[in-house]
Order: sequence, then C-alpha cells, then structure tokens
Amino acid sequence: MIIVLRPEATEEELQHLIDVITDAGLQAHVSKGTERTIVGAIGDESKIQLIPFTAIPGVENCIPILKPYKLASREFHRERSRIKIGDIEIGGNEIIVAAGPCSVEPNDTLLQTARAIKAAGAKMLRGGAFKPRTSPYDFPGLGEEGLMMLSDARMETGLAVVTEVMDTRDVEMVYRYADAFQIGARNAQNFNLLREVGKFDKPVFLKRGMSTTIKEFLMAAEYVMSQGNKEVIMVERGIRTFETATRNTLDISAVPVLHHETHLPVFVDPSHATGNFRYITELSLASVACGADGLLIEVHPNPEKAMSDGAQTLKFAKFEMLMDKIKPVAAAVGRKV
Ligand code: PEP
Ligand code: MN
Repeated sequence: MIIVLRPEATEEELQHLIDVITDAGLQAHVSKGTERTIVGAIGDESKIQLIPFTAIPGVENCIPILKPYKLASREFHRERSRIKIGDIEIGGNEIIVAAGPCSVEPNDTLLQTARAIKAAGAKMLRGGAFKPRTSPYDFPGLGEEGLMMLSDARMETGLAVVTEVMDTRDVEMVYRYADAFQIGARNAQNFNLLREVGKFDKPVFLKRGMSTTIKEFLMAAEYVMSQGNKEVIMVERGIRTFETATRNTLDISAVPVLHHETHLPVFVDPSHATGNFRYITELSLASVACGADGLLIEVHPNPEKAMSDGAQTLKFAKFEMLMDKIKPVAAAVGRKV
C-alpha cells in the first residue's frame, strides 16, 4: 500500500503512521519528495487491508500497489532517484560514462586505460576482478589482486570504480575496494547475492539477465532494495533472441519502459549487447537519445590482446571519438556529458 501524506503533515504524524505499520508486523518505507512524503507499507497483504490508513492523522490518501515490485516502482517514488558516488551524480542531468577493460589483467593495461578514459571524459572505471566465464578453463580474473589494482587506479585518477561481485562470500571484500558493485547478467536472479549486496551501503549496477523480462529485472532490483539498499542502477546489456548477427540484442525499448516503471537510473552497456566494437558508437548515441542516464563501455589499449571480450572492446581513439559524438546528442535531449 502507498500512503500519501498531506503537504502539512508533521514529523509526529509521520512517526505515528510508521508505528501503526510496524506494530502490525509490516515494514514502513519512507520516501520524502520535495513536495510530499510517501510511505510504503509492505508485507502480508491481509494485514495491510485491515489498517484504516485514511483515518490516521496526516494521511491524505492511500493507493494499493498492483505491481509486484514496490520499492522499485514509480508509484512509490514518483521523482527519479539520483545516486551519488563521491562527486558523481547518477540519474541527474549529466550522463555518466563508466569505461575500462572487461577484465583487470596482470599488466599495466588498467592504469593506461584509466588515464585515457579520464582524459576523454569518463567518470567511472569498470573492470572485472571476478569474471563469470562460460568456460571453466578461461581466465577467471585476478580476485583480490585485481581489486587492489582497481583501487590503485582510483587513487591515481580519481575515477570511481565499479566491479563485479559473483559470490555472497566476496561481497564484503569487494565493498572494501570498490565504489559500486556490479551484479552480472548471469547472476541477475541469484537471489541470495542480490539480498547480500542489499545489506551494504554502496550502489549496485544491476545487469539485466540474458533471458529476464523487464518485470523480472525489476523484481531483482526489489530484492536488493528490500534489504535496505535503495541505490540500484538498472543496466540494459542485451538479451538473447533468435538473432545471431550480434552477441545479444540490445533492447533499446527497455530504456523508456524502465523509466516509466521505475524511479531508478538506467544505464546501457552496448559492448555486451552487441559483442562487436563496430556497433558500439551508434548504439551509444541511440541510448543517450532515448534517455539512458549512463553508458558502460569496454575499452582496452590493445583489444586484440585483451584477456576477455576483445572483439567488443574499443581502442582509446575510438572511445574518444564516441565521447565527442555523444555530446551533441545529449544536448539535443537536454542533458550533458
Ligand atoms: C562484464 O561487464 O564484463 C560482464 C561480464 O557483463 P554481463 O554480466 O552483462 O555479461
Ligand atoms: Mn566483458
């Protein structure tokens, strides 16, 4: 149930409402907007039905939530969420670009890449220390050593770091080194992992699973948020379809659909969506044009030698060109890069 308070409702009235909800064994989630405060009562529907919310002082209206996702829904939180990572604001006017190699490698490519993407205007560094590889014989990532390298690159460049966590047992370690977690497509419905990152206070870049519907994707965000962490960034990274010309099919419509359904920021990862460096620039432009709040792009000094995903990875010069090309498109939709 969504309970909308009167504009003049006092803090005492809000607290009383929260007490009524929690005394009934339900959870109260408060969302304070610029004009209104909204409270979500979440839990056993049969208990929610028994509470006469409109009789409680300070309450203007109550609306049953029909969607299965509640905390992630735009009904619960009407204004778009803005997520801060240091000086960066995700979901605001600026389009945030996170770039870097697919894997953190045992050489100096990470640092070289961090310097190059920063010079080109990226605000975040991406790179996997824990890699979900289809084959158990492929490079699995450097683990903690890779996290240390990411953290060193942050120290030198000031870029914020986002990196994948694959296992509930590693969440605490990744939290210590990174500025944001990434949950990969293959773990989009690993409910224990989603719950675990939900207990921490760092943003979560949640990739869409290759076969998850938008509704399932939003339910995955709900898993994270239900544990207290409301800082989830939805990342469309392509889905599996019958088409084989690209690695996946970028579901560009997911961007406006997600913005309609949720207040959470939406990113696009054209690298994993296409699997082919040739299409990254055009799809980045399309993503910005249709409202993406940011991009996640794979970049490496020498993609031919990259330890994973070289075919979809941009060289520095091509990435710089991409950053230049997205500026006028961002301006055309009232945003900046
Ligand atoms: C990645 O970002 O390197 C990655 C493995 O992405 P996804 O989970 O989207 O395949
Ligand atoms: Mn990759």
